[in-house]
Parts: sequence; C-alpha cells; structure tokens
Amino acid sequence: MPGAPVLLVVDDDPRARGVVEGELLKRYGADYQVICVGPADDPPGLLAKLRDGQRRISIVLAGESESQPNGTELLARVREFDRTAMRLLLIHWEFGPPPEPILQAIALGHIDAYAGRPATVPDEEFHLTVTELLEKWSRSNLPRPEVMRVVGEEWSVRAHEIRDLLSRNVVPFGFYSEGSQPGRALLEHAGATTATLPVVIMFDGRVLENPSNTQIANAIGVRTSPGACLYDVAVIGAGPAGLAAAVYGASEGLSTVILEPVAIGGQAGMSSDIRNYLGFPTGVSGEDLAVRAYTQAWNFGAEYVYGNPATGLRTQGQERVVTVADGDEVRSRAVVIATGVSYRRLGIPSLEGLTGVGVFYGAATSEAKSMQDREVFVVGGANSAGQAAIHLARYAARVTMLVRSHSLAESMSEYLIREITNTPNIAVRHNAVVTGGSGTCSLESLTIQDQMSGVTQTVPAAALFVLIGAEPRTQWLPDDIKRDRWGFVVTGTDLMAGGHPPASWPLQRPPMFLESSLPGAFAVGDVRSGSVKRVASAVGEGSVAIRLIHDYLRGDRH
Ligand SMILES: Cc1cc2nc3c(=O)[nH]c(=O)nc-3n(C[C@H](O)[C@H](O)[C@H](O)COP(=O)(O)OP(=O)(O)OC[C@H]3O[C@@H](n4cnc5c(N)ncnc54)[C@H](O)[C@@H]3O)c2cc1C
Repeated sequence: MPGAPVLLVVDDDPRARGVVEGELLKRYGADYQVICVGPADDPPGLLAKLRDGQRRISIVLAGESESQPNGTELLARVREFDRTAMRLLLIHWEFGPPPEPILQAIALGHIDAYAGRPATVPDEEFHLTVTELLEKWSRSNLPRPEVMRVVGEEWSVRAHEIRDLLSRNVVPFGFYSEGSQPGRALLEHAGATTATLPVVIMFDGRVLENPSNTQIANAIGVRTSPGACLYDVAVIGAGPAGLAAAVYGASEGLSTVILEPVAIGGQAGMSSDIRNYLGFPTGVSGEDLAVRAYTQAWNFGAEYVYGNPATGLRTQGQERVVTVADGDEVRSRAVVIATGVSYRRLGIPSLEGLTGVGVFYGAATSEAKSMQDREVFVVGGANSAGQAAIHLARYAARVTMLVRSHSLAESMSEYLIREITNTPNIAVRHNAVVTGGSGTCSLESLTIQDQMSGVTQTVPAAALFVLIGAEPRTQWLPDDIKRDRWGFVVTGTDLMAGGHPPASWPLQRPPMFLESSLPGAFAVGDVRSGSVKRVASAVGEGSVAIRLIHDYLRGDRH
C-alpha cells in the first residue's frame, strides 16, 4: 500500500526474509506498506529516504544471527531517522534465555522487543509481538476517535494541564490550537468563538468553557463525589497498591470505593516501560498496566471517585470516615491507605525526556547488568545512592557519584563509605550538580557543574541513576496514625516497642501486618514504612491487605 505507514524488514537470509514478508503482507498488507531489504541494500540510506519522503515507519524488523550480528546495531540507529518507529529484533528461535547483547539492547532502550522469525505459517506468537508493537505505535501515530476536542492556546498552562490530565487518564482526545484553521472551525461550529479558552467540546456537542478537572470528569461520567452509603473498604490512592486492593476487595464481595485525585496508575503510570513486573517479558507501559487494573477493578464493581483527594481520616464508632477535598465524607468499615510517594525529580527538561532510556529514578538493581562496561553516574549522597553505586560498579566500567555536599559522612553509613572508597571503579565528585544532558535515542552526555568554582563540564554518559529521596504523601493523615521520622506510615510489628503497641492502641490484640496504629486502617505500597518501592510489592501488599480486612471485618479482630 504505497503512502501507508511502513513495516521495514531487514534480514540477510533471503528465505527467512521471504517468510517474514509473506506473513506481514497477509496480515497487514491492507493498511501498511511492507518493504523487505537485505543489509547490503543500505538500510540506513533507506531509512533516510523514507524520512525525507515524510513516510511514517511503524516497525523496523531487523534480523540477527551469528552470521549477521548487526541487527541490534541497525535498530539502535532507527530513532535517528524516525523518533516513533518501533524496533523488533528477529532471532532464530532457540530454547533458553536470550543472549546478553539482546538483554543489554532492551535495557538501553535500543530495541523494543525481540521475537523468533516465523517458524510455522501462520506463527501466532510472532504476530502477537508484531500486533502489540503496532498497537503501541498506533496510539500516538494514527488518528483515534476523539471523545473530547480541546481548543486552546498552544502554550497556555491550563491547556497543557488539560492535555496532561486527559492523556494520563487515557481519555482519547484531540488538541487544536485556537489559531489554526481546524481550531477556529471547531469554535465556530460549537458557537464558542467568544468563550474563555481553553474550550472542551464533547463528542455529543456539549461545550465546556475553561472547565475545572472536576467538570471534565463529570462530563465523561466519572464520579467526583463518593456515595452516602457505608462501604466495606475505602481505598485511598489508585497507584498499583490501591488498584490491587480495589481489584481484590471488589472481587471478594466487599463494597469498595477508590479515591484518586490525579490519574490512575500513580507513579507507575508515569513509567513508559516497566520491565520487571511479572508476566510482561518485553515490559509494559505504566499507562497500559493502570488501564488494565482499573478496568479489572471496575468490572468487579469497585466505585471510582476522581479529583477529590482525601484530606482527613477519623474514627466514628466502628466506622472509619475519610473526608475529601470538597468537604464530602466517605464512610467505610476499613481503610486502605495507598497514597504512595512523590520521588524527588531533577526537574531538568532535557533529562525528563530521557527517563527510562538512560535516566532512571530509583531503579539501579534491575538495570545494573545492562550497564556492562559503560560509563554511569549516580546522583545522591544517601545510603540508597551508595548501595546503587556499589551494585552498579560490579558491571559498569566506571561509576561516578555526583554529590551535592562536600562529604558523604553527613548522609551515608560508614560501612558504605568504606566500601565505596575501596572500590576502584567508583569515583565520588563532591559539590557537583547535574544541570543538563542530551541524547538522541538514549542518554549520551551529562552537563555537570562544580558548585564551588561554578565551572560546567559536559561528559559522555550512558546512564544516570537518580536517588535523591522520596516524600510520602501522608500529610493529610491524623496524628493517631504513627509515622516514622521520614513520614512513612508505620505498620504491624514495627509499631511494637518492648512487646507493646503504642499507648493510643485501643485493642487487646496487637496490630496486624500492614495495619497502622489506627485499627482498621491499613497502609500498603510505597507509603508504608520499610516497604520495597516496586510495582510488584505494592500490588502484593494491596492484595494482602484485603485478606487482613476480611479478618478485621469478621469481628474477631476488633
Ligand atoms: C518514573 C518511575 C519509574 C518506575 N519504574 C519502575 C519499574 O520499572 N519497576 C518497578 O517495580 N517500580 C518502578 N517504579 C516504582 C513504582 O512505580 C512504585 O513503587 C509504585 O508505583 C508504588 O505504588 P503505590 O500504589 O504504592 O504508590 P503510587 O504509585 O505513588 O500511587 C499513589 C497514588 O495515590 C494518589 N494519592 C496521593 N495522595 C492522595 C490523597 N490524599 N487522596 C487520594 N489519593 C492520593 C496519587 O495521586 C497516586 O496516584 C517507578 C517509579 C517511577 C517514578
């Protein structure tokens, strides 16, 4: 199909190329143009030609074998020519784990997935990988039905906020600049030429003039106020922990309400590629995971209340009452606190765009192996940064710690400082702050400033691990919910001192695992003191809390 988005196959094995071409033409020939070439046909030149001809490439499929080891190298360059093309490495099917270079290529964001060349015809496993990549690509590259059309000034803060809100909550929408011809036509057609921008035009013609988040949510039928009934469980926060609690609570017959002020998925929703979550061998976008979990909770009957954050929690007899921002109250028999943390971010725009492709927040363990022989940097001077540096040094050529203060002793345990000092490939740069960075497909360089001299320096860098702390979102909780010195909610046996619960604890029994110092209020995920800051552990705790709530509600735990 000339003019259609391109599926480009590069393989030196003509027979394999023919099979791949046949399979792609059969399934996708009506909507995509399939182009097949060998490595001798100058694939980079072809990519440049397609770019110059303004052709969109949806997937580049490059073959790799012992005799043709440069498929990964080609895929690593694809984004130089097309920033949105997906990259699929084709290998000869074999049993066992994929070779190290493939793992490294995935970790560095040089390929999106790998698959065996079609071994049978049809090969549904091969097609599953291709269609998953096409689906990911199509989300931002093909027209989608628009539930909402937003017309506003391109650089208006509120227009940006609305776009961010809709995309984080996966609402299909289109944005039209008020100065553009389609933007003007939309305003005219809606009779809104004098309306205050931004204007949101709904699929059924309703017009919202400079709407609040609550008005937008209401317009698409999302509730923003809780019901007046007594729920079994109120879940506060729709990150992975809260969504898991909602799925398990609702699926096990508990009337469940979940409150979320910003967007489903929490921090995980901001991750473009979660690679260590069970069951997703090529990774899953946080957005995808969040939508799946939200739909699952919804299907089981959980109620979702958007845009109304919890502002307080109190006990009223056997009930737990959560107050929300608009003054309403949620009455429930038990509460799951899943409000997570905000990771402190560097806030440097050029590095924000490289998150997940060289810039990592708190994720040193899973990425370390792929840093083999590379130049990596760690920002932070506390224990978490020290541990990350030591772990990374086992793989990387050199690890440079960038520490704002003039000494590690102020913030790091002595044993870690000793280990860092004794590790030859760790260097510590004090008084150093990152001020910028760049890279085409992934991080390539960092700009570092010496705070004493003011001198800046740009250095090559393959990865930057940022460990500058996280702040729990617990300011809204009452004093009778005990927190550690960083503000995380203390639970279970950690509440016991000398075999006794805190003085405010009103029951004979000790607090259960995950239960806070307020009976019936459980804390799960990142907000909990001592928790592992990971999606899987947050999901695990969210589901375990429901098991404990069954015990609590049965009455034998009052
Ligand atoms: C960029 C990035 C990438 C990551 N990548 C990975 C990864 O690859 N693998 C991995 O395992 N982990 C990863 N993590 C960590 C992982 O996302 C977290 O461990 C996980 O999201 C914690 O889930 P949670 O539900 O406990 O908290 P959160 O995800 O923080 O969710 C808390 C939710 O509560 C809501 N909330 C806050 N205050 C209130 C209130 N007052 N009322 C109601 N709701 C409220 C928030 O809006 C938020 O939606 C990543 C984190 C980040 C930031």
